Amino acid sequence: MSPMFVPGPVDVAPEVLQQQAKPMMPHRNKDFEAIFQRSEGKARQLFFTQFRVFLMTNSGSGAQEASVRNLSKERVLSCVNGSFSKRWYDCAVANGKAADKLEVQMGQAIHPEMVEEALKGQKYDLITLVHNETSTGVMNPVKEIAEVVHKLSPDTLIAVDAVSSLAGAKIEMDAWGLDVVFTSSQKCLALPPGLALCAVNDKAMARAAETPNRGWYFDFVLLEKHRVKDSTPMTPVMPLIFALDFQLDRILAEGLENRFARHSAMAKRCQDWAAGKGWPLLAPEGYRSQTLTVVVNPPEFDCAEFNKFVAPKGIRLANGYGDLKGKTFRIAHMGEITPANVDELLGLIDEYMAGKGK
Ligand SMILES: *Cc1c(COP(=O)(O)O)cnc(C)c1O
Repeated sequence: MSPMFVPGPVDVAPEVLQQQAKPMMPHRNKDFEAIFQRSEGKARQLFFTQFRVFLMTNSGSGAQEASVRNLSKERVLSCVNGSFSKRWYDCAVANGKAADKLEVQMGQAIHPEMVEEALKGQKYDLITLVHNETSTGVMNPVKEIAEVVHKLSPDTLIAVDAVSSLAGAKIEMDAWGLDVVFTSSQKCLALPPGLALCAVNDKAMARAAETPNRGWYFDFVLLEKHRVKDSTPMTPVMPLIFALDFQLDRILAEGLENRFARHSAMAKRCQDWAAGKGWPLLAPEGYRSQTLTVVVNPPEFDCAEFNKFVAPKGIRLANGYGDLKGKTFRIAHMGEITPANVDELLGLIDEYMAGKGK
């Protein structure tokens, strides 16, 4: 398989893709309920939670919307350090929520002291935090931020977007005291797009029950009513759930710790290679993503041109996101990507630059 180093949709293993071709069945029958139940059970291991994981027929952004609709009655503190965390703030505002931005420059991390400061000045019932900012390659210190929130404002719920990191980096939802954590299928899980996995603890469920205007499609209370019967209120995306069931077996067979180690080894290789070339990384030391590396490139490196150079091999690299397009490029090393794939890519970038006399 020729790898695509893009942060979703990522390559899907052929045997996983094939699972989607299984015959359909009624979704309210024992056979499907058994698949749903075991998939959810395995998914809990990925989140390190004993609570519940909703399998939602929508992409990750739907889980951003679900968390603001279900968990905030008063005011949201939205931590913004890139495009996806900015989207979550916009989503809160678009849903009529009172929201404040705790914003830092793109490429910087949100630090616990910043959250501490924000919580001292204002009461919030929800804080939204992106674990891995896919636009900048910054990983926020979620565990340390959660500690500050617990200490200063125990009633503030913590929702974490782990769309581009869960299943590639260890996020211990229960041990860290996170109330909602979600991901979508097309990133580190290496599945096709269209499914979100959203873990919700009991504290968040209790808040949802008393929050008005939760809507219908994303209502946690309604989702829970059906989940306890191993089902969903609406027709679920069955082909993706067949693939999820199978892919979770593959992931657990690799071993979670091995999987996380594979991702950090690939991040280290990219970081060392960039340092060797004198190409800076956008993310500061200590806050660098384990699942994608964002490199500040010299003007001679043209990502679109490089992609033409490697297209015959089926390889693809991601350009910078939004305003960072042309200024950075992104090596996503998630899902099925191996260290050998990364070495091949880095060698090709060196070859392309050598062709330019650099
Ligand atoms: C990709 C991404 C999203 C959006 O997810 P969709 O599944 O495309 O809706 C949200 N947050 C982060 C951090 C992402 O990387």
